[in-house]
Amino acid sequence: MAIAELNVNGRNYKLPTQPTVVVCVDGCEPDYLAQAVATGQMPWLKRTLALGSGLMADCVVPSFTNPNNLSIVTGAPPSVHGICGNYLFDTATGTEVMMNDPKWLRAPTLLAALSDAGQSLAVITAKDKLRKLLGHKMKGICFSSEKADEVSLEENGIEDVLGLVGKPLPSVYSADLSEFVFAAGVKLMQKLKPDVMYLSTTDYVQHKHAPGTDGANAFYRMMDGYLDQLESLGCVIVLTADHGMNAKVALDGTPDVIYLQDWFDDWLGAAKARDFADHRPLCGAPRRARFVCHGLPARRFGCCCGLQSAGAAQGHGSGADP
Ligand SMILES: [Zn+2]
Repeated sequence: MAIAELNVNGRNYKLPTQPTVVVCVDGCEPDYLAQAVATGQMPWLKRTLALGSGLMADCVVPSFTNPNNLSIVTGAPPSVHGICGNYLFDTATGTEVMMNDPKWLRAPTLLAALSDAGQSLAVITAKDKLRKLLGHKMKGICFSSEKADEVSLEENGIEDVLGLVGKPLPSVYSADLSEFVFAAGVKLMQKLKPDVMYLSTTDYVQHKHAPGTDGANAFYRMMDGYLDQLESLGCVIVLTADHGMNAKVALDGTPDVIYLQDWFDDWLGAAKARDFADHRPLCGAPRRARFVCHGLPARRFGCCCGLQSAGAAQGHGSGADP
């Protein structure tokens, strides 16, 4: 008899009974959605919020992209899954490295467990750096928009993604990189109807555009259209975020910075704590730990862990991914 429930990292999950799409919108501060809905940019989400559920919750700390994406797909905090940052200092080699190698991952993912249970899986990320972590030990389709022109059956479980989607390869620093994720998700759902799909965008737009601005609203209007198509295809949709985004300056324009050196000096001794990359004194930006989870119906699948804010000066200044 086919199993109806999975246990992964101590949590029980019901297997989906209809195609289920989990979308992690990178840097989706809840105000982006609130303002886009209020000004008529997101008719699908407005309708969905009236019928489904909208919840706010805390992200995991550190509130970066990699730890939170991995918490979403493992249902566990970084102390369990091991992805404790976007970067780490590898003491074995004495170098700072991006934390995107599955060798750092200590816990199985729900995605891999679902594929082991016979579910068909598709994972699409905007940036390639998350692909190997999310797809670790998972059978199925797993590729990034960033390297959609390099896919192979052997590595990604799919061929000719550009032909499937009918769009050119997007620039890595563009809104198009995330739109490609949604466009590919809709095409895959039309052609292959995977049981479970995980879509993860990049926060290029959120770094540049504050909630309610034209640049932000255009992104959320685009996203709303694809989510509407996925619902029309019979999907259950869970919309969540890895972290939020907020201004890094006070209302008077001065940098809103918390300096950590004194705090660490009191704790560990004078000048014991240094930035490992270049041995500068430490400072930190304020963090806010709210996130959004919108589902139809909510939380049918997986867990919701998201957001906070990390980001650039003036809140939305750089294209860097926290
Ligand atoms: Zn992020």
